[in-house]
Amino acid sequence: MFNRNLYLIHGNLVCWFASWTLKTKKEVNTMNKHVIFALIILLCTAGMGMAEEIVDDYPELKDVSDFGGDLTIMHLLGYRATNISMEQLSFEKGDPNVLAMTRAGYATAVGGHSTEQCIDAVIATSGCTMGNKNLIIIHSCSEKPFWFVFCNQNTMEATYLRVNKNVLADYLDRESTTTDKYALYREFMEDDTVFEMVSKYNINAEELMANPDLWNDMLYTIGPADAMSIIYGADALARWSPPGLITGLQFHDHICPATLSGYFFSEIVLKELPLRSSADKYISISTPPWCKDDTMIQLLGISPAMRMVSEDIPEEMKEKFPSPPFGGGGGSGIGGAVIRWNSTTKHGDGIFLTFDKLKAIKLSDSGYLTSPTPEQRGLDVLKIICWMTENPQEAAKLHQVYKRFEVNEKELNELYTTGNNPLELLNILPKESGVAEGSGTHESGPVSKLNASALSIPDAKFPDVDVMPVASACDLQLSSDPNLQYFPVPPPEPDPTGDIGGDYPMLKSLSNFSVRGSPDNISIMHMIGFKACKVGMGLLRLKKNDPNLMVFTNAGYVASIDGESTEQCIDAIMDESGCTIGKDNLLMLRTGMHSRVWFAFLNRDSMDCVFLWVNDDVAKDYLDRERTEDHYTLMREFVQVRGDVLFTAYKLNVDAERLINEPSRWDMIEHHLGKTNAWSMVWGANVVVKHPIPEFIAIMQEHTHICAGSLAGYYMVDRIRSELPTIGGRECAVYKGGDMLVSLLPDCRNDAIMALLDTTPGRKGYFATKLSNEQIAKLPPEARSASTIYITWDEFSQHGKGIVLGFDTEKARELSGADYKNEPFWLCRLKCLTWMADHPDKCKSLVKVIKRFEVNDSATVRKLESVDVNPMVELGIAGESFATTGTGDGAAATTPFIPAAACMAIVLLAALLSRRR
Ligand SMILES: [Zn+2]
Ligand SMILES: [Zn+2]
Repeated sequence: MFNRNLYLIHGNLVCWFASWTLKTKKEVNTMNKHVIFALIILLCTAGMGMAEEIVDDYPELKDVSDFGGDLTIMHLLGYRATNISMEQLSFEKGDPNVLAMTRAGYATAVGGHSTEQCIDAVIATSGCTMGNKNLIIIHSCSEKPFWFVFCNQNTMEATYLRVNKNVLADYLDRESTTTDKYALYREFMEDDTVFEMVSKYNINAEELMANPDLWNDMLYTIGPADAMSIIYGADALARWSPPGLITGLQFHDHICPATLSGYFFSEIVLKELPLRSSADKYISISTPPWCKDDTMIQLLGISPAMRMVSEDIPEEMKEKFPSPPFGGGGGSGIGGAVIRWNSTTKHGDGIFLTFDKLKAIKLSDSGYLTSPTPEQRGLDVLKIICWMTENPQEAAKLHQVYKRFEVNEKELNELYTTGNNPLELLNILPKESGVAEGSGTHESGPVSKLNASALSIPDAKFPDVDVMPVASACDLQLSSDPNLQYFPVPPPEPDPTGDIGGDYPMLKSLSNFSVRGSPDNISIMHMIGFKACKVGMGLLRLKKNDPNLMVFTNAGYVASIDGESTEQCIDAIMDESGCTIGKDNLLMLRTGMHSRVWFAFLNRDSMDCVFLWVNDDVAKDYLDRERTEDHYTLMREFVQVRGDVLFTAYKLNVDAERLINEPSRWDMIEHHLGKTNAWSMVWGANVVVKHPIPEFIAIMQEHTHICAGSLAGYYMVDRIRSELPTIGGRECAVYKGGDMLVSLLPDCRNDAIMALLDTTPGRKGYFATKLSNEQIAKLPPEARSASTIYITWDEFSQHGKGIVLGFDTEKARELSGADYKNEPFWLCRLKCLTWMADHPDKCKSLVKVIKRFEVNDSATVRKLESVDVNPMVELGIAGESFATTGTGDGAAATTPFIPAAACMAIVLLAALLSRRR
């Protein structure tokens, strides 16, 4: 009785309080602290949390808290952005024609708070999800503008909401100290200054091309980079939206003709050089790198840190390439090579690719080559994008294999080596005297340095099945208790009602979440994710929303079963497990399209893990039949498929301590999960469980595991941020001013830096070669640990700063107590990386700044990223001059503007920005 009275009083007080807050919210904080304090005591006594109350004022927030957990400022931010957009674009929750894009995520922090909770709020409020292919999470970093975009693809109207980071940071500060979250949240919900810009545009491509003023207006109000993200992205996806292209957009920030090229190149690689076993890996020789690389990295599962050679070439070298097939001056059509390298046989098969950009310009009837102004050129790029996405089959034909070749280990090493020009080694570079006339002449071209010979591509099976574990559930204990799990024990078969949701009410939640209440649209792919949850959670005996549950998977826009992407599994996982992006307990690791799909369910308390490989043959059969057979009958059948038929399941404990004490268990784990997944689930999972730091999740998603190397990268980012406060907003490299990473060694740390600072190769933010042992020997001893050059550059003032970084790996190994001489590979690394994650201060002191330098002309900057150059010599760190040919002279490197240069979009950006000045 007493409690009930209190509750009533509290109810009245809150109502009075709420309405009063509306009028004088500022005064609440200053003048009425005592009143508020009394109120808190009262509410706590009544057993009511105050933060709950914001839901009373904004009932739609209930969806957000049901989905994303206890509400925070970040949830409210995502909700507000979505809500404003829903009003302005008049759409309802779950509208499949609405595209949501955001730069929120693990690596985007404001005031030290990461922003992934905004994504949960966007999902819960808009109904845009990965499974519906209309949730696009743009790879970004803390230094970049932070925005939300919604586009109604029926009307092609879009909203753009840019967050005022200072205002947001202030709220976040107060959130961590306030005793009255309710008042803070109310204030936040009504504060117009949270977004520094809220605008609405019509971004219909035809409309913009007919009315360039609309385009110009957008360029100059929100800036060309963001305008490109929105217009190029939404107009392309409105025409053609294969999941692989979405992933290109997510990583590259926009869709340009070259992002599309990366998609078509990847298709060629997957067809010509399918991976045959887990010993096969793709290596990209990106000389020169351009936007296509950002798509290819994603689709081919390439780690830039380990499997990429990326160097620019001088403009005059680009000019020499014949068109066709390279497609018009500026080297824009040099697709680079992809090698399928087998680490067992030490042999690689490679293809060299071309893109006929001139033909794309011609076929799209774009005025790109003669555009009178940069603004107009931007529209002419849009025209090419529209043509390519309206005619993907025609556009695909413009991408070709120019040459096939083989490499052995020595040759591969040469391709990697700093100062070598892969185009020369691969016999692609046209001769000085006579420019090659076209694809007909290349086979008998200049002096061959490699054994370039035509390959006969074996008719290999796709994907890599031979190394995967056979379907034997060795240490898996299947429960036969039907109350714990529906699968492997299938639910009792009900009488048919004609409605799958009626037959199996357990599917209702999934259909509400992902396909807006129509169980007829639940797909086999949804069901694969759903069944994975049933098996995984059943075996772990964890229920939905259990705080100990974490899910790891490679499912998503890329990894595929029978050529079909697996993002619908993600919707099912979110709904069935309650694990989400915003709760930091759903980790989507980036592997290539060829990778076999898996799910791992982890109890973070016991570190018990249920690992499920999808049995491709079973899944393929149902995916095939889904195309032709009656949905209802097929779904009824599929619900009854036992979990142990659909999956090969293992239950194992991955606790680091336990493994260190019982190292003999490792072989079993590696045997069942495969080497790289064992690294994910042992190295990675132990770190993110013990240290739930969003940046670790960002690294793990990008790099698929956490290792000593990627942790070194994490600590190096700290040093980069303190030494080199950004000049250009960490945008795309030298063209605009921004950041650039030059990797001197294939080392995991550079993937971590890229994951956190968004220096992607496609945006000219990432260059990589490998110093040879001889080149390292010529360095002074203190510089021999150098792995990374990092530069921030401002193109306008022609000024930049850089540092050469290394990490004292030896010291870390020593301090960790790991015995690298005698312990197995995985064990010493496990010891070292767990020590590194546990000792941030110590590790930060192991980051070494080998050199600090300033640059005052773009020629120097571009030299450091260029082929034929050893950057350590250029920076005066190595003893003797090593630079050989070509780019040594500034004249070549300062070529200001070439209409057909590699990234149309970046060039446009550069031109517009210079104009603005
Ligand atoms: Zn681009
Ligand atoms: Zn690694």
